[in-house]
Amino acid sequence: MKFPLLNNIEQNAAAIAAFDTNKKVTWCGNCGNYGIQAALKRALALEGLTHRDVLLCYDVGCSGNGSDKVEAMTIHGLHGRVLPLAAGAALANSKIKVIASAGDGATFSEGVNHLVHAVRSNYRMIFLHHDNENYGLTTGQPSALTCQGAKMNAAPDGVTLPPLNPIDFVLGLHPTFVARAYSGEIDHLTELLRRALKHPGFAFIDILQACPTYNKATPDHWYAARVKDISHFPDHDPCDLWAARKLVAQTDQVAIGVLYENDRPDFYSLAPGRSERKTALTEEVGYQAINTLY
Ligand code: SF4
Repeated sequence: MKFPLLNNIEQNAAAIAAFDTNKKVTWCGNCGNYGIQAALKRALALEGLTHRDVLLCYDVGCSGNGSDKVEAMTIHGLHGRVLPLAAGAALANSKIKVIASAGDGATFSEGVNHLVHAVRSNYRMIFLHHDNENYGLTTGQPSALTCQGAKMNAAPDGVTLPPLNPIDFVLGLHPTFVARAYSGEIDHLTELLRRALKHPGFAFIDILQACPTYNKATPDHWYAARVKDISHFPDHDPCDLWAARKLVAQTDQVAIGVLYENDRPDFYSLAPGRSERKTALTEEVGYQAINTLY
């Protein structure tokens, strides 16, 4: 599979390394989180962003354990609640890039209500959905995305229900940017993140993530045999919502890249009076004597 060549990785090695920390890594060997973290650091550096320009928000889970592995402003929130936390930050300071990360357990169970409203509201932020099809941090319980029949902790006889399709779910919520990536294709994910950083609304990226410890149903070789860049689907029109829904229903070939995009205005630009302002809300906060307010 051929993906667009990355330019300037070597020339930007110092800027990429500036996002490194010396914190102990706790992920299992061959976990997909390594690839996702590497792509994130590269994309930020290649877009000329430093740790002062970006806020990284993390949910609880194996993905959340990346919160101290990157030198940036980070917040590690409550389980399933990373989206309202990140949306609030994005509204308060429109001058920084806000990127939220959460796993499929938190996103499609505890936090599914927040996903609905974040997509619908089209907040200016990126959401990295770490889709490893299980609750990895708590030792491999099934999520709403685990394959039917998979034998998991807490489901030793196999998962009874068929899984939700996360991208089809999001496509039903009037999104403005929907993409799919694979943790084993770091160059491809880097380019996708760079594109999402330029999107002026809510960018949803479903990252198919290997979890070799607990997800035996879709291991790395399962993805490697199926993922194909969207350029291999020349008839696909990324403005066509129904074409995107049809594409993500396929399981024999798994298209990765931007699947759907439109330019519906984001929440902030629709808020009365905000689009004309040059200042962010955080710059307008001042001390006010409470007794002058009534
Ligand atoms: Fe990665 Fe799975 Fe291990 Fe969590 S349990 S660190 S997702 S391999």
